[in-house]
Amino acid sequence: MRRALMLAQRAADDGEVPVGALVVLDDEVIGEGWNRPIASHDPTAHAEIIALRAGAQVQRNYRLSTATLYATLEPCAMCMGAVLNARLARIVFGAWDPKAGACGSVIDLPREPRLTHRLDVFQLSAEHCDALCDIGALCHVHGRRAECPPGTDRIRCLGPEGRRLRQRD
Ligand SMILES: [Zn+2]
Repeated sequence: MRRALMLAQRAADDGEVPVGALVVLDDEVIGEGWNRPIASHDPTAHAEIIALRAGAQVQRNYRLSTATLYATLEPCAMCMGAVLNARLARIVFGAWDPKAGACGSVIDLPREPRLTHRLDVFQLSAEHCDALCDIGALCHVHGRRAECPPGTDRIRCLGPEGRRLRQRD
């Protein structure tokens, strides 16, 4: 997540919304990205999409079924659409996005029962962010605290892995 924060800062330096993302497979980073829709004149150029595209090129496969996406901010609906199409195994994100988040804030695509793919979703607890990286930096780049949105009392904290929202269900 430290690397993802550095990528988010890169987006901030470019005047973009600061989001960074990584795709990790077998402890190896196979794709990374930072937000650049303004610079690239591309509404789909979110950090997560860029990281997924890079990872899929490395694998020569659009399915990344054992990979993990790390994102500094809760992914939006578009990015979650890509995650579901790539059949990712899990997502780990930092701050909640109460305006556009699609993992529980605004909508909850990983738990949408009419969709077939299930994946594990983790949100790093503030305490864990503190230990792992710099929660201050996370809050700074996103201008908000990594707080749980209302109605997420289903969250169970599993300690060092951060907050596990849910397993495949
Ligand atoms: Zn997105």
